Amino acid sequence: MKQLVLIKYGEIILKGLNRPFFEEALVKNIKAALPDSFKGQIHRAQATIYVEPDDPAIIDEVIHRLTKVFGITSLTRAFVLPKDIESMKTGTAEVLAPVLQNIRRFKVEAKRADKKFPLTSPQICQEVGGYLHDTFPNLVCDVHNPEEIVMVEVRDEYAYAYCGKVKGAGGMPLGSNSKATLLLSGGIDSPVAGYMTAKRGVKLNAVHFFSYPYTGERAKDKVMSLAKILAGYNPRMDVHIVPFTEAQLAIKKNCPEEQLTIIMRRIMMRIAEKIALQTGSKALITGESIGQVASQTMEALAVTNEVVRMPVFRPVIGMDKEEIVTIARKIGTFETSILPYEDCCTVFTPKHPNTKPKLDRIIQSEAKLNIEELVAKAVEGVEVITV
Ligand code: ATP
Ligand code: MG
Repeated sequence: MKQLVLIKYGEIILKGLNRPFFEEALVKNIKAALPDSFKGQIHRAQATIYVEPDDPAIIDEVIHRLTKVFGITSLTRAFVLPKDIESMKTGTAEVLAPVLQNIRRFKVEAKRADKKFPLTSPQICQEVGGYLHDTFPNLVCDVHNPEEIVMVEVRDEYAYAYCGKVKGAGGMPLGSNSKATLLLSGGIDSPVAGYMTAKRGVKLNAVHFFSYPYTGERAKDKVMSLAKILAGYNPRMDVHIVPFTEAQLAIKKNCPEEQLTIIMRRIMMRIAEKIALQTGSKALITGESIGQVASQTMEALAVTNEVVRMPVFRPVIGMDKEEIVTIARKIGTFETSILPYEDCCTVFTPKHPNTKPKLDRIIQSEAKLNIEELVAKAVEGVEVITV
C-alpha cells in the first residue's frame, strides 16, 4: 500500500494574491529539510502538499524533520487508496487496523475535493463507518467524543485514509518575511527571541560578541551549540563572531564603573547594525525583557536603542522568565543555555549598575572613547561560521 505525508498549512492560505509566493517558499523549505538521501515525489494541490518517499520506511523520519519547518500546521501519515467506494472501505479497514483494533469510540469524517465523485461526504462517512463498525466488533460510533477520527479524503487522482495528526511548527515559511540579525548570547532569552522571529518567516543570521580570553573556547562552543539548535528551524545560519575584548577593555579603562554595561550595550548595538546592513538584514533582534536586569529597565532600553536607526525587535519584551523558559524547553535550547560558562557581559558587570542612565551623561563618557575605530576594528575582525 502506498503511503505519503500529507502536509496542511494554515495561515498562508489567507494571503490572497501572494499565496503562490508563500506556497513556493514553503515547498522549497520542505525540500531543504528532507534527508539528503530522499528519493520520491513532492507536489502541491488543493492547499495540501504531498511528500511521497519511494521508501515508506523513512516516513517517520520525514515527519520528524518537517515538524521544524515553519508554515506547516499539521502532518499526517496517509495511505493511498483507489478512488472507488469498495476499495475505500476495505482499504481503510486494512491500513488503519493497528489503530482501530485498540480503541472503542470512533468517528469517520470525509472530505470530497473531487466534486464529481458519485457519493457525497455524508454518504462516504456512512459507507466507510458502517464497514469499519461491522469489521471491528470493539468499535462504537461516537460523533461527540471519539478517541480517533478516521479521515477519508477523495481528491483528483486517489482517495486517502488516515487518522492522527502531528502538530506542525506553525508560523510562516522561512524567508517569506525578509531577513534580520539576532544578537545571540549564551543565555536563555536570545535563542527564544530568534525562534519567535524566524517563526514569522524571517530568515536570521546571528552576531555573537566574544571576549577572549575573558570568555573561553567553551563559552564559544556553547553559543555554537545553541546556534545549531536554532539552525534546525533556520537552516544555514551565518554566525558572526565579533572580537569584543578591545572595546570592553577600553570602556572599563575610560568610563565610570556604573555605566559599563550600558555603554557596552550601545557599542554592541552599533556593531550589530553595521553587520546587519552588510548582510541585507532589515532589523535587529534581542532577547531583552522589561526589567529583567539593570540594563533592561525602560530607561536603559531607551538609552541603548538610541544609537541605532534600524528597528530593534524584542519578541520576549513582555514575557516573564518562566514563560521564556517554557519556550526554551520546547525548542530544545534550555539545557544548553543553563550550562555555566561565563558570558562577555558577566565578566565586566559592575557591582552597582546604573538602572536609570541619563543619555547626556552616557554621551559624555563615550566621548572619551574612539567609538568609530572600536566599532570598525571589531567588524573587521569578524569570523563567520555557518551552521
Ligand atoms: P540572554 O538570556 O539572551 O543572554 P540576558 O537576560 O542574559 O539575555 P543580557 O545579558 O543583558 O540579558 O543581554 C540582553 C540581550 O543582549 C541578549 O538577549 C542578547 O540579545 C544580547 N546579548 C547579550 N550578550 C551578548 C553576546 N555576548 N553576544 C551577542 N548578543 C548578546
Ligand atoms: Mg545574557
